[in-house]
Amino acid sequence: MNTSSINAEIIAVGTELLLGQIANTNAQWLSDQLAQNGINVLYHSVIGDNLNRVQETFSHAQSRSDLVIVTGGLGPTEDDMTREAFSALSGLSMINHELSLKKIVDYYERHQLEMTPNNEKQARVFEGAIVLENMAGMAPGMIVEHADCTWIFLPGIPREMKQLFGEGVLSHIKKLVGTDMVIKSTVLKFAGIGESQLEHELKDLIANQHNPTIAPLSQSEGNVIRLTAKERSDEHADVLLEATKSVIVKRLHNYYVGSDEDTLESVVVSQLKALHWTVGAAESLTGGLFTAKLISVPGASDVCPGGLITYHNDAKQQLLGVSKDILDNYGAVSEQCALEMARQVKTTLQTKVGISFTGVAGPDQVEEQPVGSVYIALSADNGFEKVHHIELEGNRNTIRQKAVMKGLTLLFNFINSQSTKV
Ligand code: ATP
Ligand code: MG
Repeated sequence: MNTSSINAEIIAVGTELLLGQIANTNAQWLSDQLAQNGINVLYHSVIGDNLNRVQETFSHAQSRSDLVIVTGGLGPTEDDMTREAFSALSGLSMINHELSLKKIVDYYERHQLEMTPNNEKQARVFEGAIVLENMAGMAPGMIVEHADCTWIFLPGIPREMKQLFGEGVLSHIKKLVGTDMVIKSTVLKFAGIGESQLEHELKDLIANQHNPTIAPLSQSEGNVIRLTAKERSDEHADVLLEATKSVIVKRLHNYYVGSDEDTLESVVVSQLKALHWTVGAAESLTGGLFTAKLISVPGASDVCPGGLITYHNDAKQQLLGVSKDILDNYGAVSEQCALEMARQVKTTLQTKVGISFTGVAGPDQVEEQPVGSVYIALSADNGFEKVHHIELEGNRNTIRQKAVMKGLTLLFNFINSQSTKV
């Protein structure tokens, strides 16, 4: 599984993280960046603003990792103790970084504010450190080589952390990995297959992975697999990635959407375009979200003339011509209503395919149907018709978003199953 011989860990300092007041998004973001650069991240730690515990965590990290990235605790206040803890551990003394100090002094002068002495603390850096200028804030970042370990200290504020990572840290890390090696990643995207089934189908490949590494990830927009290759040159890395990609795509061709910049909606739009097919949606529960998603793709006008938002039953009757009988006998959240909506929108907009969304987004039940009960129907001009009933979990908006993704997946599956027949 090793992508490089460098084992890294990420430490986030801040009591607010332990209290659950904020999420540790820094660690998530940094892990993603390191993975893309072929570095194994073996541990994440979160530690409160307590000198002994921070020092203890640092000491532990130093004994087991080659690269440690610390975020937070570099600010001016008493509870910011990252510097003190590392200084106590390493024995490195701290000196003033003149440029950072000048920036802080200038800031207070410019804003005519009184500068308290603790603000100077932010300009203190370890002797021998590579200092990374913070363009978005006060405290600079630092890179310190100590005890066979590369230490990187970054501010806790995500915007500052990301800026410093992009400017000075990334190039340093690339040097650590080895300048003669190129690391390239590609992300393969899938729809209509769950995370566990995806892993199951690729079990042998994952177990025997070497170069490229194969990492299945679950994202809000669907399941993806990231392949990361490390090679002598760009071309060699591409060959490795291409070879593994083709094995995976062949195995999972029914579910494979695309790679990297491709999204389910962009792929659906290009498939429809290639077939000269059009689609129109009748949206109750999703209130236009599905159509908006399609139209977010440039050039969608070729495949989507429009859509109808029919939220209230009156609109379902007046704009779509759904009969009062269907609404009275089966209700708006029903197989019958969904199918009628899909048929009618297809006729009204004169599209190849009509798709409809009706369901209960919550928080209250509708027509005695539970929250999350959703019907999505497809009706095509070749006679194909199908209604899918799904039970989605989440709050009102996640249910609506999930319904949109499910609708796109159903459309994608439909196109794939039908396009071979035309
Ligand atoms: P400052 O100079 O602002 O004090 P700092 O380096 O001391 O910066 P912290 O005080 O630890 O950083 O955090 C500042 C703010 O940054 C936090 O209130 C929080 O909003 C955000 N933050 C800190 N750590 C994280 C993290 N791990 N993930 C996401 N956000 C974080
Ligand atoms: Mg702080």
